[in-house]
Amino acid sequence: MKLARFAIDGTTQVGWIDSDAVVSFGPGATLDAYFAVGSDGLPAIADQAVGARYALDDVDLLAPVSASARCLFATGWNYRSHLAEGNAARGKVVEEPTVPTFFSKPATTIIGPFDPIALDEDWSQQFDYEAELVVVVGRPGRDISEDAAMSHVFGYTTANDVSARDIQHRHGGQWFKGKGIDGTCPLGPWIVSADEIPDPSALVIECVVNGEVRQSANTATMAFSVPRLIAELSRGMTLLPGDMLLTGTPAGVGWARKPPSFLEDGDEVVTRISSIGEMRNRVLSLSAATASSDRGRAIPQA
Ligand code: MG
Repeated sequence: MKLARFAIDGTTQVGWIDSDAVVSFGPGATLDAYFAVGSDGLPAIADQAVGARYALDDVDLLAPVSASARCLFATGWNYRSHLAEGNAARGKVVEEPTVPTFFSKPATTIIGPFDPIALDEDWSQQFDYEAELVVVVGRPGRDISEDAAMSHVFGYTTANDVSARDIQHRHGGQWFKGKGIDGTCPLGPWIVSADEIPDPSALVIECVVNGEVRQSANTATMAFSVPRLIAELSRGMTLLPGDMLLTGTPAGVGWARKPPSFLEDGDEVVTRISSIGEMRNRVLSLSAATASSDRGRAIPQA
Protein backbone atom coordinates (compact mmCIF):
# COMPACT_ATOMS: atom_id res chain seq x y z
CA MET A 1 0.00 0.00 0.00
CA LYS A 2 1.22 3.46 -0.89
CA LEU A 3 0.29 6.34 1.40
CA ALA A 4 0.51 9.89 0.17
CA ARG A 5 0.03 13.42 1.40
CA PHE A 6 -1.33 15.75 -1.24
CA ALA A 7 -2.81 19.13 -1.95
CA ILE A 8 -6.01 19.78 -3.87
CA ASP A 9 -8.33 22.79 -4.05
CA GLY A 10 -6.36 24.60 -1.35
CA THR A 11 -6.55 21.73 1.14
CA THR A 12 -3.92 19.29 2.36
CA GLN A 13 -5.12 15.70 2.66
CA VAL A 14 -3.73 12.20 3.04
CA GLY A 15 -4.79 9.06 1.25
CA TRP A 16 -3.71 5.85 -0.41
CA ILE A 17 -2.72 5.34 -4.00
CA ASP A 18 -5.08 3.17 -6.02
CA SER A 19 -3.68 2.80 -9.54
CA ASP A 20 -3.81 6.28 -11.12
CA ALA A 21 -5.90 7.79 -8.34
CA VAL A 22 -5.57 8.70 -4.69
CA VAL A 23 -8.35 7.85 -2.23
CA SER A 24 -8.52 10.41 0.56
CA PHE A 25 -8.81 9.38 4.19
CA GLY A 26 -11.14 12.32 4.58
CA PRO A 27 -11.00 15.84 6.01
CA GLY A 28 -8.62 16.35 8.90
CA ALA A 29 -6.89 12.97 8.63
CA THR A 30 -3.11 12.83 9.05
CA LEU A 31 -0.67 10.03 8.44
CA ASP A 32 0.50 10.09 12.08
CA ALA A 33 -2.38 7.89 13.21
CA TYR A 34 -1.51 5.26 10.61
CA PHE A 35 2.21 5.16 11.43
CA ALA A 36 1.50 4.07 15.00
CA VAL A 37 -0.86 1.30 13.85
CA GLY A 38 1.91 -0.30 11.83
CA SER A 39 1.69 -1.68 8.34
CA ASP A 40 -0.15 -4.82 9.53
CA GLY A 41 -3.23 -2.70 10.12
CA LEU A 42 -3.29 -1.09 6.70
CA PRO A 43 -5.75 -3.38 4.88
CA ALA A 44 -8.43 -2.61 7.45
CA ILE A 45 -7.64 1.07 7.19
CA ALA A 46 -8.05 0.98 3.42
CA ASP A 47 -11.45 -0.68 3.77
CA GLN A 48 -12.56 2.18 5.96
CA ALA A 49 -11.28 4.93 3.70
CA VAL A 50 -14.37 6.73 2.58
CA GLY A 51 -13.01 10.04 1.36
CA ALA A 52 -13.08 11.43 -2.12
CA ARG A 53 -11.20 9.84 -4.98
CA TYR A 54 -8.98 12.09 -7.09
CA ALA A 55 -7.02 11.41 -10.25
CA LEU A 56 -3.31 11.57 -9.46
CA ASP A 57 -2.90 14.05 -12.30
CA ASP A 58 -5.25 16.45 -10.50
CA VAL A 59 -3.40 16.59 -7.16
CA ASP A 60 -0.02 17.92 -6.07
CA LEU A 61 1.88 15.23 -4.20
CA LEU A 62 3.56 16.63 -1.08
CA ALA A 63 6.30 15.26 1.15
CA PRO A 64 4.78 12.48 3.30
CA VAL A 65 5.68 14.47 6.43
CA SER A 66 5.83 18.22 6.84
CA ALA A 67 8.12 20.58 8.70
CA SER A 68 6.15 19.68 11.82
CA ALA A 69 8.13 16.43 11.99
CA ARG A 70 10.68 16.55 14.82
CA CYS A 71 13.65 16.07 12.44
CA LEU A 72 15.04 13.69 9.89
CA PHE A 73 17.60 11.17 11.14
CA ALA A 74 20.36 10.39 8.70
CA THR A 75 23.28 8.03 8.24
CA GLY A 76 26.76 8.94 7.04
CA TRP A 77 29.14 6.65 5.14
CA ASN A 78 26.77 3.70 4.81
CA TYR A 79 27.98 2.62 1.38
CA ARG A 80 31.64 1.65 1.18
CA SER A 81 31.72 2.96 -2.39
CA HIS A 82 30.79 6.46 -1.17
CA LEU A 83 33.33 6.34 1.67
CA ALA A 84 36.02 5.36 -0.84
CA GLU A 85 35.18 8.15 -3.30
CA GLY A 86 35.21 10.64 -0.43
CA ASN A 87 38.62 9.45 0.72
CA ALA A 88 39.95 9.91 -2.81
CA ALA A 89 38.42 13.39 -3.14
CA ARG A 90 39.64 14.70 0.19
CA GLY A 91 43.06 13.02 -0.04
CA LYS A 92 42.68 11.74 3.47
CA VAL A 93 41.57 8.31 4.61
CA VAL A 94 38.53 7.95 6.86
CA GLU A 95 38.61 4.40 8.19
CA GLU A 96 35.52 2.29 7.63
CA PRO A 97 33.27 2.79 10.68
CA THR A 98 32.58 -0.24 12.85
CA VAL A 99 29.27 1.23 14.01
CA PRO A 100 26.89 3.45 12.01
CA THR A 101 27.49 7.22 11.88
CA PHE A 102 24.31 9.22 12.52
CA PHE A 103 23.33 12.86 12.27
CA SER A 104 20.09 14.78 11.99
CA LYS A 105 18.57 17.21 9.54
CA PRO A 106 16.09 19.92 10.51
CA ALA A 107 12.56 19.26 9.27
CA THR A 108 12.64 22.69 7.57
CA THR A 109 14.79 21.06 4.89
CA ILE A 110 11.82 18.97 3.72
CA ILE A 111 10.20 19.70 0.36
CA GLY A 112 7.80 17.74 -1.81
CA PRO A 113 8.74 15.19 -4.45
CA PHE A 114 8.24 17.64 -7.31
CA ASP A 115 9.11 20.93 -5.60
CA PRO A 116 12.08 23.08 -6.62
CA ILE A 117 15.29 22.61 -4.64
CA ALA A 118 16.19 26.00 -3.15
CA LEU A 119 19.69 26.85 -4.33
CA ASP A 120 20.82 29.65 -2.01
CA GLU A 121 23.98 30.93 -3.68
CA ASP A 122 24.45 33.53 -0.97
CA TRP A 123 25.42 30.62 1.26
CA SER A 124 26.90 27.98 -0.98
CA GLN A 125 28.33 27.39 -4.43
CA GLN A 126 28.62 23.64 -3.88
CA PHE A 127 25.15 22.08 -3.70
CA ASP A 128 25.34 18.34 -4.28
CA TYR A 129 22.87 15.46 -4.56
CA GLU A 130 22.61 12.23 -2.50
CA ALA A 131 19.91 9.67 -3.32
CA GLU A 132 18.85 7.73 -0.22
CA LEU A 133 16.42 5.05 0.92
CA VAL A 134 14.35 6.27 3.88
CA VAL A 135 12.98 4.02 6.62
CA VAL A 136 9.70 5.23 8.15
CA VAL A 137 9.26 4.18 11.77
CA GLY A 138 5.93 2.61 12.77
CA ARG A 139 5.67 1.19 16.27
CA PRO A 140 7.73 3.25 18.72
CA GLY A 141 10.59 1.71 20.60
CA ARG A 142 13.87 2.10 22.43
CA ASP A 143 16.72 -0.41 22.65
CA ILE A 144 15.21 -2.35 19.75
CA SER A 145 17.06 -5.56 18.92
CA GLU A 146 18.13 -6.36 15.37
CA ASP A 147 15.77 -9.35 15.44
CA ALA A 148 12.80 -7.14 16.35
CA ALA A 149 13.80 -4.16 14.23
CA MET A 150 11.71 -4.89 11.15
CA SER A 151 8.53 -5.04 13.24
CA HIS A 152 9.09 -1.33 13.95
CA VAL A 153 9.29 -0.38 10.28
CA PHE A 154 6.11 1.13 8.87
CA GLY A 155 7.44 1.53 5.37
CA TYR A 156 9.89 3.20 3.03
CA THR A 157 10.24 6.30 0.95
CA THR A 158 12.87 8.19 -1.01
CA ALA A 159 14.95 11.24 -0.15
CA ASN A 160 17.62 13.36 -1.71
CA ASP A 161 19.99 14.50 1.05
CA VAL A 162 21.07 17.59 -0.88
CA SER A 163 24.28 18.83 0.74
CA ALA A 164 26.13 22.15 0.60
CA ARG A 165 29.69 20.79 0.53
CA ASP A 166 31.49 24.07 1.18
CA ILE A 167 29.36 24.73 4.28
CA GLN A 168 29.79 21.11 5.36
CA HIS A 169 33.56 21.36 5.15
CA ARG A 170 33.73 24.88 6.61
CA HIS A 171 31.83 23.98 9.79
CA GLY A 172 34.09 21.35 11.26
CA GLY A 173 33.64 18.80 8.51
CA GLN A 174 30.45 17.56 10.19
CA TRP A 175 27.11 17.27 8.51
CA PHE A 176 24.44 19.18 10.36
CA LYS A 177 24.97 22.67 8.95
CA GLY A 178 25.71 21.77 5.35
CA LYS A 179 22.75 19.41 5.19
CA GLY A 180 20.38 21.71 7.05
CA ILE A 181 19.58 24.37 4.45
CA ASP A 182 15.89 25.26 4.13
CA GLY A 183 14.03 23.64 1.26
CA THR A 184 16.70 21.25 0.08
CA CYS A 185 15.50 17.74 0.98
CA PRO A 186 12.96 16.24 -1.44
CA LEU A 187 10.96 13.47 0.24
CA GLY A 188 8.44 11.11 -1.36
CA PRO A 189 6.68 10.60 -3.66
CA TRP A 190 4.79 8.47 -1.11
CA ILE A 191 5.40 5.90 1.60
CA VAL A 192 5.31 2.26 0.54
CA SER A 193 4.25 0.05 3.43
CA ALA A 194 6.71 -2.57 4.61
CA ASP A 195 4.56 -5.53 3.54
CA GLU A 196 5.25 -4.54 -0.10
CA ILE A 197 9.02 -4.44 0.46
CA PRO A 198 9.89 -7.50 2.56
CA ASP A 199 13.60 -7.07 1.85
CA PRO A 200 14.93 -3.49 1.80
CA SER A 201 18.41 -4.77 0.97
CA ALA A 202 17.55 -5.59 -2.64
CA LEU A 203 16.52 -2.25 -4.13
CA VAL A 204 18.06 -0.32 -7.00
CA ILE A 205 18.77 3.28 -6.00
CA GLU A 206 19.59 5.96 -8.56
CA CYS A 207 20.13 9.67 -8.99
CA VAL A 208 19.92 11.18 -12.45
CA VAL A 209 20.98 14.77 -13.17
CA ASN A 210 19.86 16.33 -16.46
CA GLY A 211 19.33 12.84 -17.89
CA GLU A 212 22.76 11.51 -16.85
CA VAL A 213 22.81 8.64 -14.35
CA ARG A 214 25.17 9.86 -11.63
CA GLN A 215 24.43 7.30 -8.92
CA SER A 216 23.29 3.72 -9.48
CA ALA A 217 23.67 1.07 -6.80
CA ASN A 218 21.85 -1.66 -4.94
CA THR A 219 20.91 -1.29 -1.29
CA ALA A 220 22.53 -4.72 -0.82
CA THR A 221 25.85 -2.83 -0.76
CA MET A 222 25.00 -0.88 2.40
CA ALA A 223 27.65 -1.27 5.09
CA PHE A 224 25.00 -1.53 7.81
CA SER A 225 21.63 -3.17 7.16
CA VAL A 226 18.28 -1.59 8.00
CA PRO A 227 17.83 -3.80 11.12
CA ARG A 228 21.33 -2.89 12.34
CA LEU A 229 20.69 0.82 11.78
CA ILE A 230 17.43 0.68 13.75
CA ALA A 231 19.06 -1.26 16.57
CA GLU A 232 21.95 1.17 16.83
CA LEU A 233 19.89 4.36 16.48
CA SER A 234 17.36 3.25 19.09
CA ARG A 235 19.96 2.47 21.74
CA GLY A 236 19.10 4.82 24.59
CA MET A 237 16.92 6.90 22.25
CA THR A 238 13.23 6.31 21.62
CA LEU A 239 12.12 6.18 18.00
CA LEU A 240 8.62 7.55 17.44
CA PRO A 241 5.93 6.78 14.83
CA GLY A 242 6.65 8.73 11.68
CA ASP A 243 10.33 9.24 12.37
CA MET A 244 12.32 9.06 9.16
CA LEU A 245 15.80 7.59 8.88
CA LEU A 246 17.84 8.32 5.76
CA THR A 247 20.13 5.37 5.25
CA GLY A 248 23.08 6.86 3.40
CA THR A 249 24.06 7.41 -0.21
CA PRO A 250 26.13 5.34 -2.65
CA ALA A 251 29.03 6.52 -4.82
CA GLY A 252 28.64 9.05 -7.60
CA VAL A 253 28.13 12.34 -5.76
CA GLY A 254 29.19 15.52 -7.51
CA TRP A 255 32.04 16.66 -5.27
CA ALA A 256 33.91 13.36 -5.71
CA ARG A 257 33.79 13.57 -9.52
CA LYS A 258 36.83 14.66 -11.48
CA PRO A 259 36.43 17.54 -11.90
CA PRO A 260 33.81 18.14 -9.20
CA SER A 261 30.36 18.91 -10.51
CA PHE A 262 27.80 20.79 -8.44
CA LEU A 263 24.11 21.53 -8.94
CA GLU A 264 23.22 24.67 -10.85
CA ASP A 265 20.11 26.72 -11.43
CA GLY A 266 17.77 24.86 -13.77
CA ASP A 267 19.25 21.39 -13.28
CA GLU A 268 16.75 18.54 -13.10
CA VAL A 269 17.40 15.97 -10.36
CA VAL A 270 15.58 12.63 -10.52
CA THR A 271 15.80 10.40 -7.45
CA ARG A 272 14.37 6.91 -7.76
CA ILE A 273 14.30 3.60 -5.93
CA SER A 274 12.83 0.39 -7.28
CA SER A 275 9.53 -0.71 -5.67
CA ILE A 276 9.05 2.82 -4.31
CA GLY A 277 8.97 5.41 -7.06
CA GLU A 278 10.55 8.52 -8.46
CA MET A 279 10.93 12.18 -7.52
CA ARG A 280 11.72 14.90 -10.01
CA ASN A 281 13.01 18.22 -8.69
CA ARG A 282 14.27 21.28 -10.51
CA VAL A 283 17.07 23.32 -8.92
CA LEU A 284 15.93 26.92 -8.52
CA SER A 285 18.43 29.64 -7.66
CA LEU A 286 17.12 32.09 -5.08
CA SER A 287 19.55 34.72 -6.39
CA ALA A 288 18.32 34.33 -9.95
CA ALA A 289 14.70 34.39 -8.87
CA THR A 290 14.21 38.12 -9.02
CA ALA A 291 10.44 37.93 -8.84
CA SER A 292 9.33 37.61 -5.24
CA SER A 293 6.80 34.95 -6.26
CA ASP A 294 9.64 32.75 -7.52
CA ARG A 295 11.61 33.19 -4.31
CA GLY A 296 8.55 32.24 -2.36
CA ARG A 297 8.08 29.17 -4.51
CA ALA A 298 11.59 27.98 -3.71
CA ILE A 299 11.15 28.26 0.03
CA PRO A 300 9.22 25.31 1.46
CA GLN A 301 5.55 25.86 2.10
CA ALA A 302 5.15 23.13 4.68
MG1 MG B 1 23.46 11.58 2.99
